[in-house]
Amino acid sequence: MTDPHSSSPVSKSLEQGLYIVATPIGNLGDITLRAVDILQRCDVIACEDTRVTGKLLSHLGISKRMRRYDDHSEEGARRELIDAARAGSVALVSDAGTPLVSDPGFRLVRDAREAGVAVTTLPGACAAIAGLTLAGLPNDRFLFAGFLPVKQKARGEVLQELGAVNTTLIFYETGPRLVKSLDAIAADMPDRRVAVARELTKLHEECRVGSASELVAHYTDHPPKGELVLLIGPPSDDAPVGDPDELLREALETMSPSKAAGQVAKASGLDRKSLYSRAVELKAQ
Ligand code: SAM
Repeated sequence: MTDPHSSSPVSKSLEQGLYIVATPIGNLGDITLRAVDILQRCDVIACEDTRVTGKLLSHLGISKRMRRYDDHSEEGARRELIDAARAGSVALVSDAGTPLVSDPGFRLVRDAREAGVAVTTLPGACAAIAGLTLAGLPNDRFLFAGFLPVKQKARGEVLQELGAVNTTLIFYETGPRLVKSLDAIAADMPDRRVAVARELTKLHEECRVGSASELVAHYTDHPPKGELVLLIGPPSDDAPVGDPDELLREALETMSPSKAAGQVAKASGLDRKSLYSRAVELKAQ
């Protein structure tokens, strides 16, 4: 019997089920040992593009049956994959990064779970998280919102809705649309720190941080090549949020639990009621 949660293969055979396998977003060294193991031992690999996944497999020295799949594939194709995952093992990959993150797989995973098929995830590279870790923007809370809409009106509505949330925002964006999106951010959120994380994990990896208008000026002169992640810092990131207990202790030195909770809630965006209960506890200590 094989343990699908183990880091090393126990035997040749793999337990039946659907395996969600993250693949590199640029640097082939970012594939995990576990991903290689599952790709070697599964019966079939469901992928967005057989040519893209074929290249990865040949780099890994793996020869495996592939089935093209995306969430727009016919219902029948999905059912066939679910049947295959019930009878054997199916690995789901996307062209790059983590499947289901702005990539196909949601419907397949949902239907597999509903059908009682075992689903196992193998985490790995994800551009949103790589960009967040590189940008140096507050990351105690963040909101990933996929691709910004292409149309100006819809993009403006999304920026307005999410701009009100006190957190770092993460979007996927393309080079040709970057300056238009930065223009919209400069108009709506001129004071926010913005980051463009480009070509992550690749030779020309770059992360540029500044106001949206500074970045508009830069990328108008240097049109961005390759893939990128666009991040917008929270409304008040001049005071990055620290440990809530520490902030409360500091505030309690000069104010009541109620006032301290109010101040920390405002600075951190955390829930005032929970902060108040914690402030009362800390005061009693
Ligand atoms: N599932 C993938 C993941 O986990 O990151 C994302 C797939 S989405 C279709 C592709 C978008 O992710 C690109 O348009 C770009 O915004 C971002 N992306 C992917 N690879 C990237 C990289 N190496 N550097 C920067 N952004 C990247």
